[in-house]
Amino acid sequence: MPTMPVNKSNFHSIKTQLAEKQVTLVAVSKTKSVSAIQELYNLGHRDFGENYVQELVDKEALLPKDINWHFIGHLQTNKVKLIAPFVQLIHGVDSLKLLKEINKQAEKNNRVIDCLLQVHIAQEETKFGLNEEELQSLVKELAKLEMKNVRVCGLMGMASFTTDIQKVRKEFEYLKELFDSVPNFEILSMGMSSDYKTAIEEGSTMVRIGSLLFGVREK
Ligand SMILES: *Cc1c(COP(=O)(O)O)cnc(C)c1O
Repeated sequence: MPTMPVNKSNFHSIKTQLAEKQVTLVAVSKTKSVSAIQELYNLGHRDFGENYVQELVDKEALLPKDINWHFIGHLQTNKVKLIAPFVQLIHGVDSLKLLKEINKQAEKNNRVIDCLLQVHIAQEETKFGLNEEELQSLVKELAKLEMKNVRVCGLMGMASFTTDIQKVRKEFEYLKELFDSVPNFEILSMGMSSDYKTAIEEGSTMVRIGSLLFGVREK
């Protein structure tokens, strides 16, 4: 894995912008080295996000235990058991089947795992997530079930990959409306390196930032 130094000035500047609005920063460390994560950790940062289960499991084993690990990728049901012992927040949940498995694995580990439902807000078809109708019916379904070991506490979304900031803003605005329509939701995870400022203006409570902190990723 490439060992590029962390961009400390971006880190401090982003932290300052977020602190004013009480927005949480998840440092997205996918493909980045353990030493880069350790460097940000040494600056006091604790929330890190990963997309791939095996990579997350490997890094978790090597890094301090007080890191809050966020799983931000597409989680397959058969991999839940690998991260259930330690994961702090699962951002990309988009089915009842997956939630049931998280509940089951959380129970085995005597834990309650926080989850966000992923909503499809971008135009691209490749991005995962629920549409509005599916979201509302899942929320209704959840209210009837008793899943003691998962806590669904908000929404996550990714805007279209475009330089058209007005379009991105509309998508975030839409996600915020959906977020506000569900009682008791606390976390709205939206905004990445290219669009986090717009996301915050539209009501994000948690941003997921990778390349501004760790440099661009190689494919
Ligand atoms: C990679 C990734 C990010 C971070 O992207 P950057 O553009 O590097 O900030 C945020 N969210 C998700 C779901 C990702 O996969």
